[in-house]
Amino acid sequence: MKNDADRPECITGNPNGNLIVISGPSGAGKGTIVKALLDQYASIHYSVSATTRAPREGEVNGVNYWFVSREEFLLMREQDELLEWAEVYGNFYGTPRRRVIEAINRGHDIILEIDPQGAMKVKKGFPAAVFVYIMPPSPRELSRRIVGRGTETQDAIRQRLNSVVTELGYIHEYDYLVINDELTEATADVAAIIRAEKWRVKRNAHLVGLVWGVNLKNAQERG
Ligand code: ADP
Ligand code: 5GP
Repeated sequence: MKNDADRPECITGNPNGNLIVISGPSGAGKGTIVKALLDQYASIHYSVSATTRAPREGEVNGVNYWFVSREEFLLMREQDELLEWAEVYGNFYGTPRRRVIEAINRGHDIILEIDPQGAMKVKKGFPAAVFVYIMPPSPRELSRRIVGRGTETQDAIRQRLNSVVTELGYIHEYDYLVINDELTEATADVAAIIRAEKWRVKRNAHLVGLVWGVNLKNAQERG
Protein backbone atom coordinates (compact mmCIF):
# COMPACT_ATOMS: atom_id res chain seq x y z
CA MET A 1 0.00 0.00 0.00
CA LYS A 2 1.20 3.54 -0.77
CA ASN A 3 1.75 6.19 1.92
CA ASP A 4 -1.36 8.33 2.54
CA ALA A 5 0.67 11.42 1.61
CA ASP A 6 1.35 10.01 -1.89
CA ARG A 7 -2.28 9.30 -2.72
CA PRO A 8 -4.92 11.61 -4.17
CA GLU A 9 -7.75 12.12 -1.64
CA CYS A 10 -10.62 11.71 -4.05
CA ILE A 11 -11.54 11.08 -7.66
CA THR A 12 -12.58 14.40 -9.18
CA GLY A 13 -14.44 13.58 -12.36
CA ASN A 14 -12.99 11.52 -15.14
CA PRO A 15 -9.59 12.80 -16.24
CA ASN A 16 -9.32 10.65 -19.33
CA GLY A 17 -9.53 12.10 -22.81
CA ASN A 18 -10.84 9.64 -25.36
CA LEU A 19 -10.12 9.42 -29.05
CA ILE A 20 -13.39 8.93 -30.93
CA VAL A 21 -13.21 7.80 -34.55
CA ILE A 22 -16.27 8.35 -36.73
CA SER A 23 -16.62 6.82 -40.20
CA GLY A 24 -19.38 6.02 -42.65
CA PRO A 25 -20.33 6.47 -46.29
CA SER A 26 -20.16 9.90 -47.86
CA GLY A 27 -23.56 11.55 -47.30
CA ALA A 28 -24.44 9.45 -44.22
CA GLY A 29 -24.47 12.59 -42.10
CA LYS A 30 -21.15 12.30 -40.23
CA GLY A 31 -20.29 15.98 -40.61
CA THR A 32 -23.78 17.06 -39.60
CA ILE A 33 -23.73 14.90 -36.46
CA VAL A 34 -20.22 16.02 -35.52
CA LYS A 35 -21.20 19.67 -35.93
CA ALA A 36 -24.24 19.15 -33.68
CA LEU A 37 -22.04 17.47 -31.05
CA LEU A 38 -19.49 20.30 -31.14
CA ASP A 39 -22.28 22.88 -30.83
CA GLN A 40 -23.83 21.08 -27.85
CA TYR A 41 -20.80 19.88 -25.89
CA ALA A 42 -17.91 22.21 -25.13
CA SER A 43 -15.98 19.22 -23.76
CA ILE A 44 -15.81 17.57 -27.19
CA HIS A 45 -13.07 18.68 -29.57
CA TYR A 46 -12.55 18.05 -33.27
CA SER A 47 -9.44 17.14 -35.17
CA VAL A 48 -9.27 19.24 -38.34
CA SER A 49 -7.82 17.07 -41.10
CA ALA A 50 -5.50 18.15 -43.87
CA THR A 51 -6.71 17.45 -47.40
CA THR A 52 -5.70 18.03 -50.98
CA ARG A 53 -9.36 18.21 -52.06
CA ALA A 54 -10.64 21.62 -53.14
CA PRO A 55 -12.81 23.49 -50.61
CA ARG A 56 -16.57 23.28 -51.10
CA GLU A 57 -18.60 26.44 -51.05
CA GLY A 58 -18.75 27.70 -47.48
CA GLU A 59 -15.89 25.53 -46.20
CA VAL A 60 -13.31 27.46 -44.22
CA ASN A 61 -9.60 26.69 -44.03
CA GLY A 62 -8.67 25.58 -40.50
CA VAL A 63 -12.32 24.94 -39.58
CA ASN A 64 -13.55 22.22 -41.95
CA TYR A 65 -10.13 21.16 -43.22
CA TRP A 66 -6.62 22.42 -43.67
CA PHE A 67 -6.67 22.75 -47.46
CA VAL A 68 -3.16 22.02 -48.70
CA SER A 69 -1.42 21.31 -51.99
CA ARG A 70 -0.25 17.81 -52.86
CA GLU A 71 3.35 18.92 -52.21
CA GLU A 72 2.47 20.30 -48.79
CA PHE A 73 0.62 17.11 -47.90
CA LEU A 74 3.52 14.90 -48.97
CA LEU A 75 5.89 17.03 -46.89
CA MET A 76 3.67 16.67 -43.80
CA ARG A 77 3.61 12.93 -44.38
CA GLU A 78 7.37 12.75 -44.88
CA GLN A 79 7.99 14.75 -41.69
CA ASP A 80 5.80 12.33 -39.74
CA GLU A 81 3.33 15.08 -38.83
CA LEU A 82 0.32 12.86 -39.61
CA LEU A 83 -1.17 10.39 -37.17
CA GLU A 84 -2.75 8.58 -40.13
CA TRP A 85 -3.48 9.36 -43.74
CA ALA A 86 -5.28 7.79 -46.70
CA GLU A 87 -6.11 8.42 -50.33
CA VAL A 88 -9.90 8.69 -50.54
CA TYR A 89 -11.87 9.33 -53.74
CA GLY A 90 -8.67 10.46 -55.49
CA ASN A 91 -7.49 12.97 -52.85
CA PHE A 92 -5.18 12.75 -49.84
CA TYR A 93 -6.62 13.17 -46.34
CA GLY A 94 -4.69 13.02 -43.07
CA THR A 95 -4.91 13.74 -39.34
CA PRO A 96 -2.32 16.19 -37.97
CA ARG A 97 -0.76 14.36 -35.02
CA ARG A 98 0.11 17.17 -32.60
CA ARG A 99 -3.34 18.53 -31.81
CA VAL A 100 -4.75 15.07 -31.16
CA ILE A 101 -1.99 14.11 -28.73
CA GLU A 102 -2.26 17.48 -26.94
CA ALA A 103 -6.04 17.13 -26.56
CA ILE A 104 -5.84 13.63 -25.10
CA ASN A 105 -3.06 14.64 -22.72
CA ARG A 106 -5.23 17.51 -21.47
CA GLY A 107 -8.08 15.09 -20.80
CA HIS A 108 -10.25 16.27 -23.71
CA ASP A 109 -12.36 14.00 -25.90
CA ILE A 110 -11.43 14.49 -29.52
CA ILE A 111 -13.29 13.30 -32.63
CA LEU A 112 -11.60 12.16 -35.82
CA GLU A 113 -13.97 11.96 -38.79
CA ILE A 114 -11.98 9.73 -41.11
CA ASP A 115 -12.37 6.91 -43.62
CA PRO A 116 -12.06 3.21 -42.65
CA GLN A 117 -8.51 2.84 -44.04
CA GLY A 118 -7.36 5.66 -41.75
CA ALA A 119 -9.45 4.29 -38.88
CA MET A 120 -7.64 0.95 -39.11
CA LYS A 121 -4.29 2.76 -38.83
CA VAL A 122 -5.55 4.59 -35.72
CA LYS A 123 -6.71 1.29 -34.25
CA LYS A 124 -3.16 -0.08 -34.44
CA GLY A 125 -1.64 2.94 -32.68
CA PHE A 126 -4.55 3.66 -30.27
CA PRO A 127 -6.37 0.40 -29.51
CA ALA A 128 -8.29 2.18 -26.69
CA ALA A 129 -9.95 4.58 -29.16
CA VAL A 130 -13.72 4.35 -29.64
CA PHE A 131 -14.86 3.47 -33.17
CA VAL A 132 -18.31 4.57 -34.37
CA TYR A 133 -19.78 3.81 -37.80
CA ILE A 134 -22.62 6.00 -39.06
CA MET A 135 -25.07 4.63 -41.65
CA PRO A 136 -28.09 6.19 -43.32
CA PRO A 137 -31.35 4.21 -43.05
CA SER A 138 -31.31 3.07 -46.70
CA PRO A 139 -29.35 3.24 -49.99
CA ARG A 140 -32.09 5.42 -51.46
CA GLU A 141 -31.80 7.90 -48.57
CA LEU A 142 -28.00 7.96 -48.93
CA SER A 143 -28.35 8.90 -52.63
CA ARG A 144 -30.95 11.50 -51.75
CA ARG A 145 -28.67 13.09 -49.13
CA ILE A 146 -25.51 13.11 -51.19
CA VAL A 147 -27.30 14.53 -54.25
CA GLY A 148 -29.27 16.95 -52.05
CA ARG A 149 -26.07 18.28 -50.47
CA GLY A 150 -25.25 19.61 -53.92
CA THR A 151 -21.49 19.71 -53.40
CA GLU A 152 -20.31 16.95 -55.73
CA THR A 153 -20.25 16.48 -59.49
CA GLN A 154 -22.17 13.55 -61.01
CA ASP A 155 -18.87 11.66 -61.36
CA ALA A 156 -17.87 12.29 -57.76
CA ILE A 157 -21.32 11.18 -56.53
CA ARG A 158 -21.05 7.95 -58.56
CA GLN A 159 -17.53 7.32 -57.21
CA ARG A 160 -18.69 7.87 -53.61
CA LEU A 161 -21.77 5.64 -53.97
CA ASN A 162 -19.67 2.92 -55.64
CA SER A 163 -17.30 2.87 -52.66
CA VAL A 164 -20.06 2.14 -50.13
CA VAL A 165 -20.02 -1.65 -50.47
CA THR A 166 -16.23 -1.85 -50.07
CA GLU A 167 -16.35 0.43 -47.03
CA LEU A 168 -19.10 -1.66 -45.43
CA GLY A 169 -16.59 -4.50 -45.24
CA TYR A 170 -14.97 -2.66 -42.32
CA ILE A 171 -18.09 -2.43 -40.13
CA HIS A 172 -17.08 -5.30 -37.85
CA GLU A 173 -13.89 -3.44 -36.92
CA TYR A 174 -16.02 -0.74 -35.25
CA ASP A 175 -17.46 -0.73 -31.70
CA TYR A 176 -20.79 0.96 -32.50
CA LEU A 177 -23.11 1.24 -35.48
CA VAL A 178 -25.47 4.23 -35.39
CA ILE A 179 -28.25 4.62 -37.96
CA ASN A 180 -28.69 8.29 -38.76
CA ASP A 181 -32.39 8.37 -39.56
CA GLU A 182 -33.64 11.20 -37.36
CA LEU A 183 -30.76 13.64 -36.79
CA THR A 184 -31.50 14.66 -33.17
CA GLU A 185 -31.79 11.04 -32.12
CA ALA A 186 -28.61 9.93 -33.91
CA THR A 187 -26.68 12.85 -32.39
CA ALA A 188 -27.95 11.93 -28.91
CA ASP A 189 -26.92 8.31 -29.52
CA VAL A 190 -23.36 9.28 -30.42
CA ALA A 191 -23.22 11.63 -27.41
CA ALA A 192 -24.40 8.77 -25.17
CA ILE A 193 -21.69 6.49 -26.57
CA ILE A 194 -19.00 9.09 -25.87
CA ARG A 195 -20.31 9.63 -22.35
CA ALA A 196 -20.62 5.94 -21.52
CA GLU A 197 -17.14 5.18 -22.87
CA LYS A 198 -15.64 7.59 -20.33
CA TRP A 199 -16.85 5.35 -17.49
CA ARG A 200 -15.57 2.03 -18.73
CA VAL A 201 -13.95 0.06 -15.92
CA LYS A 202 -10.80 -0.36 -17.98
CA ARG A 203 -10.40 3.43 -18.16
CA ASN A 204 -11.07 4.16 -14.47
CA ALA A 205 -10.29 1.23 -12.19
CA HIS A 206 -6.74 2.44 -11.63
CA LEU A 207 -8.13 5.69 -10.10
CA VAL A 208 -10.14 3.76 -7.53
CA GLY A 209 -7.02 1.76 -6.73
CA LEU A 210 -5.04 4.98 -6.28
CA VAL A 211 -7.49 6.67 -3.91
CA TRP A 212 -7.99 3.56 -1.80
CA GLY A 213 -4.30 2.75 -1.92
CA VAL A 214 -5.05 -0.74 -3.13
CA ASN A 215 -3.67 -2.86 -5.91
CA LEU A 216 -7.03 -3.96 -7.35
CA LYS A 217 -5.55 -7.07 -8.96
CA ASN A 218 -4.52 -8.41 -5.54
CA ALA A 219 -7.56 -7.12 -3.61
CA GLN A 220 -9.88 -9.99 -4.59
CA GLU A 221 -7.48 -12.65 -3.37
CA ARG A 222 -7.02 -10.88 -0.03
CA GLY A 223 -10.71 -9.90 0.45
P1 ADP B 1 -21.14 13.18 -44.53
O1 ADP B 1 -20.35 14.11 -43.66
O2 ADP B 1 -21.34 11.83 -43.93
O3 ADP B 1 -20.61 13.09 -45.94
P2 ADP B 1 -23.18 15.27 -44.33
O4 ADP B 1 -23.15 15.52 -42.86
O5 ADP B 1 -22.55 16.26 -45.24
O6 ADP B 1 -22.62 13.79 -44.66
O7 ADP B 1 -24.72 15.06 -44.71
C1 ADP B 1 -25.10 14.85 -46.07
C2 ADP B 1 -26.44 15.58 -46.31
O8 ADP B 1 -27.46 14.91 -45.59
C3 ADP B 1 -26.42 17.02 -45.84
O9 ADP B 1 -27.12 17.81 -46.78
C4 ADP B 1 -27.15 16.96 -44.50
O10 ADP B 1 -27.83 18.17 -44.22
C5 ADP B 1 -28.13 15.83 -44.72
N1 ADP B 1 -28.45 15.06 -43.50
C6 ADP B 1 -27.59 14.66 -42.53
N2 ADP B 1 -28.25 13.96 -41.58
C7 ADP B 1 -29.55 13.91 -41.97
C8 ADP B 1 -30.75 13.31 -41.41
N3 ADP B 1 -30.72 12.62 -40.27
N4 ADP B 1 -31.91 13.45 -42.09
C9 ADP B 1 -31.94 14.14 -43.26
N5 ADP B 1 -30.87 14.73 -43.84
C10 ADP B 1 -29.68 14.61 -43.21
P1 5GP C 1 -15.16 14.67 -47.81
O1 5GP C 1 -14.38 14.95 -49.05
O2 5GP C 1 -16.59 14.26 -48.11
O3 5GP C 1 -15.07 15.77 -46.79
O4 5GP C 1 -14.49 13.39 -47.12
C1 5GP C 1 -14.28 12.24 -47.88
C2 5GP C 1 -13.84 11.11 -46.98
O5 5GP C 1 -12.57 11.39 -46.41
C3 5GP C 1 -14.79 10.83 -45.81
O6 5GP C 1 -14.95 9.41 -45.70
C4 5GP C 1 -14.02 11.35 -44.63
O7 5GP C 1 -14.37 10.66 -43.42
C5 5GP C 1 -12.60 11.04 -45.04
N1 5GP C 1 -11.62 11.84 -44.31
C6 5GP C 1 -11.70 13.13 -43.91
N2 5GP C 1 -10.61 13.48 -43.23
C7 5GP C 1 -9.82 12.40 -43.16
C8 5GP C 1 -8.54 12.13 -42.57
O8 5GP C 1 -7.89 12.96 -41.93
N3 5GP C 1 -8.04 10.88 -42.74
C9 5GP C 1 -8.70 9.91 -43.43
N4 5GP C 1 -8.12 8.71 -43.50
N5 5GP C 1 -9.89 10.12 -43.99
C10 5GP C 1 -10.45 11.35 -43.87
